[in-house]
Amino acid sequence: MEKEAKLVIIGAGIVGVSAAYHLAELGWQDIVVLDKGPLFHTGGSTSHAPGLVFQTNGSKTMCIFAQQTVELLNKLHSEDHPTFYPVGGIEVAYTKQRWQDLHRRWGWGKAYGLDSQLLSPQEVQEHIPVIDPSVIRGGLYVPSDGDALAVNAVEAMAAITKQQGAVTYYGETEVTGFQTSSGRVTQVLTDKGNIQAEQILLATNIWGPVLADQLGVHLPLMAVEHQYLISEPLESLQGEKREIVHPILRNQDFSMYFRQHQDRYGIGSYKHEPLLVDPYQVGKDAMHPFTEDDFQTAHAAAKELIPELHGKSFPTHFNGMFAFTIDGYPILGKPSHLKNFWTAIGIWVTHSGGVGKAIAQWMDSGQPTIDLRAMDVNRFSDYMTTKYYLTRTAAQQYREVYDIIHPKQQMEHTREIRLAPYHRHLKDLGGEFFESVGWERPQWYESNKRLLAAYGDQIPSRKGWSARYWSPIQGAEHLAAREKAALFELSSFFKIEISGPDAAAFVEYLSANRVLRGEGKIVYTALLNDKGTYQSDLTITQIGKDRFWILTGASTGMTDLAWIKQHVPQNANLQVRDITSAYTAVGLWGPRARRVLEKLTNQDISNQAFPYLTAQTIEIEAIPARAFRISYIGELGWEIYTPVEFGDRLWKVLWDAGQTDELIAAGMGAFESLRLEKGYRALGAELTAEYTPYQAGLGWTVDLDQDDFLGKKSLLEAAKTKPEKKLCCLTIKEGAPLGKEPILDGNQVVGYITSTDFGYSVGQHIAYAYLPVEYAREGRELEVDYRGERLPALVTRDPLFDPKMEKLNR
Ligand code: FAD
Repeated sequence: MEKEAKLVIIGAGIVGVSAAYHLAELGWQDIVVLDKGPLFHTGGSTSHAPGLVFQTNGSKTMCIFAQQTVELLNKLHSEDHPTFYPVGGIEVAYTKQRWQDLHRRWGWGKAYGLDSQLLSPQEVQEHIPVIDPSVIRGGLYVPSDGDALAVNAVEAMAAITKQQGAVTYYGETEVTGFQTSSGRVTQVLTDKGNIQAEQILLATNIWGPVLADQLGVHLPLMAVEHQYLISEPLESLQGEKREIVHPILRNQDFSMYFRQHQDRYGIGSYKHEPLLVDPYQVGKDAMHPFTEDDFQTAHAAAKELIPELHGKSFPTHFNGMFAFTIDGYPILGKPSHLKNFWTAIGIWVTHSGGVGKAIAQWMDSGQPTIDLRAMDVNRFSDYMTTKYYLTRTAAQQYREVYDIIHPKQQMEHTREIRLAPYHRHLKDLGGEFFESVGWERPQWYESNKRLLAAYGDQIPSRKGWSARYWSPIQGAEHLAAREKAALFELSSFFKIEISGPDAAAFVEYLSANRVLRGEGKIVYTALLNDKGTYQSDLTITQIGKDRFWILTGASTGMTDLAWIKQHVPQNANLQVRDITSAYTAVGLWGPRARRVLEKLTNQDISNQAFPYLTAQTIEIEAIPARAFRISYIGELGWEIYTPVEFGDRLWKVLWDAGQTDELIAAGMGAFESLRLEKGYRALGAELTAEYTPYQAGLGWTVDLDQDDFLGKKSLLEAAKTKPEKKLCCLTIKEGAPLGKEPILDGNQVVGYITSTDFGYSVGQHIAYAYLPVEYAREGRELEVDYRGERLPALVTRDPLFDPKMEKLNR
């Protein structure tokens, strides 16, 4: 074996080899792939997977990964060495809810460029003659889905890369550890000798944590046993020699899937209590003995859908091991404390082609080329990797793998992990808590029900799907915040401090907007990647000579922190600190906010003394605080930060002082509709790695006159060219979509909804969407497909509320 390599990939399953293949395509040489098992039937999950590739997914990135996998598998396919059978895929519905959900899934497909159609039960049977149409309501048919022969695909990619002289593969070579120096992995240690590597990619799937732990990278992932069986021959398939002709089939109401194997049928079942296996206990092979009892319910359901399975035995049966991460997404990228170690873990065969391509492009250029924020290895907080949390959450992911998940559905277990110091007050007010990265945040307050008497007639009722996890109280809180004043929980906001002699130069380099505007100035800015598209959006405030605070979202903070740390220049004299746990915060906003705060401070907080987009230290009663005059809801007011131990008192004194001004507590439900009405964009929805600030309508946050900043070169180009798509505001006449629904011009899909909610002050249902520029004009009529229903939509002005910023500057 080599003593040195440019890149060592650990794991020769479909993910490791796909990454090697794509890197070789990008011209990389001198890649070594190691596996502890024999090549290429290594004993990993790839060796056992029946290979069903269903591409439909609620996540755009995951859907694109799957489409790229299909493209790759079709390209690798040959008659002699098949890698993919594009037989189509059908997901059937037993229940009314599932049938409606198939409409939602159809919409996702349309939104993300995947062609599909809804079929009647008889049409499903025409494609898959073995099913009983009388037990289903219909199906969603994706003609380009199909079945992968995963090991064949691995062999095909390995052959190509070997022929190119780019990659060497070694089986039966176990990686046992690493040598590190100054944040670099210098040596990969194996039972066959050591290799010095410039870069390392970990693609060890269910064994992922075993090696990663050694480097202080704690991957929240568990192996879960999952049953697969193959029947004896079916009469109706007698003599069938072709590998697979019927479309692959999913019965999600019973957490099962099916595929034909020549004259037999295979069944995959998740319909049993999760059988978790600690990654350290997996052993050599990703296969465990079959547990008969766990198959009972699934067996009955299988016989109902495919009557020919009655009386059939299953000569092949086993429990294979699947990797389940805590949020269902892969774990990709480079941990922030390591300079040359990458992960590609928790990936299905379905997504392996796309992931291999994405990680290769990321490693090659230093930037992902599609939006991978949701999959970033740095996204996890420490509590997520505790055994307690991990086992419960991985089990939940397994149970819910095929469930119909509402976008606002709440986790029922392991709650109350992170609480604001003033949490008891939120509880006393009847907070209906929703969870976000462990924080409990009121979505609305039951005590505000009384406000419905005043505002109820401005709040359209909702029914069915869109009424779930929603209360009209959200609307009442929204209107009261606009009319009077409201206190918002902001403890969960992520706070980063950058300090030191080189801090100023560094924040300027990070930021597309000019940050150095003097002490106390708040600057809203974009953090861009090299392509000039969004990595993040946040505020940066100079709070001292060499000291800056970065305030960002609860759920995006960890990735922002990692991004910032990864861009600190070598030898720079500065510190980057996560100070989220040191400070708590509240939002005090609304026309009466100043009246409330004035009662508690001697400082001049008039518009002249404390203008919009400035920050000051402030004494609020006995509380030392820092107030930021900014508002994500578009109203007069402050975000107020104080050390955690003062948090309870801060809430209480503001609350007491506000009562004569009818101050209310308002939840995140109102927060969302308020920001949307004001046209404020959200990271991950409107702002993604797909779009530049110009396309997002945020060109004013870019200052191209600055010397240099991340993404500037690409933005200079972007500023010269007319973009193909642009973010638009739309209003929807009836109905209440929830997001990701396709937008149509006749039958042509022209975009999809990024965020949507009712704007209670403007009396319109609002949606944002990127549309081709020819559609981006006020008055353009379009339609939204909401679970099979066509809703009329109109492109309108952006924003709908307070475009002149009068509410903020007073
Ligand atoms: P693996 O194939 O597991 O490869 C990881 C490799 O790392 C292994 O070969 C292992 O030997 C090696 N390794 C681990 N530790 C070390 C070490 N220390 N040193 C050297 N090498 C090491 N997905 C679908 O998309 N569709 C399906 O229909 C489907 N059905 C499935 C059915 C079953 C029963 C199972 C178990 C899985 C199924 N999956 C399916 C999931 C899919 O198979 C896996 O997610 C996918 O194969 C993972 O690929 P991988 O390359 O990441 O992992």
